[in-house]
Amino acid sequence: MISLILAQKKMLKLITFDLDDTLWDVRPTLINAEKKTREFIETKLGKLEWGSWEEFKEIRKNLIKTDASYEYDVGKLRKKLLLMKIEEKLGATEEAKKLAENAFEIFYIERNKVNFFKGVIEALSELASEFKLASLTNGNACIKTIGLDNIFEFNVSSVDVKSNKPNSGHFEKALQLTGFTKNEMLHIGDHQVNDMLAAHNFGVKHLWFNPDNLDWEVDCMPLPTAFSEWPSLVKEISKLQFT
Ligand SMILES: [Mg+2]
Repeated sequence: MISLILAQKKMLKLITFDLDDTLWDVRPTLINAEKKTREFIETKLGKLEWGSWEEFKEIRKNLIKTDASYEYDVGKLRKKLLLMKIEEKLGATEEAKKLAENAFEIFYIERNKVNFFKGVIEALSELASEFKLASLTNGNACIKTIGLDNIFEFNVSSVDVKSNKPNSGHFEKALQLTGFTKNEMLHIGDHQVNDMLAAHNFGVKHLWFNPDNLDWEVDCMPLPTAFSEWPSLVKEISKLQFT
């Protein structure tokens, strides 16, 4: 199959992938990471009130006003939120700082424990034998910890380009790192705006991972070619036109 693709797709050189919700379902991972982190803090400080999603969004908005990097650096944002919560009990002390650092370490370990969708590793391994593969993420997953560093040649995170998809920074960086051109690149991701509209606006081919068969909601671009399960990905790529 892969050599067939290669014969048909001489122009395709680089395939980039979103990570969260494209290679794995991120929700259970984040819920578990959050739970373990809170449990750790509460063993030190006792029961805490963690606040609602609305309150979190308000705090985030205010933090971004004071420092724009909180918008694209999710690790820094997470550390700051943990510190703020701990300081409610311990005040602005060295002890609070240390506890926040330790809590973030726990969060980050758990955040990188992911369950791949069925067929991900098989498809990536097959594609990696013929194309350069890389990941473009707004999140802070670590491809080395997750064991993808032998498949992806590099990862571009928002913190690397000081910007989130759907802005073009991740895509520009990928081309800059490889020396390839837009028509030699394909981007694959789950998010209608951050992946599909982003790739469309940047001018690169794109494939939509749509496991839940969602309706297409972005009016300003055509419905992209979609696939709902990883075992069919190589076949879907072989159908794309590269000229
Ligand atoms: Mg995603």
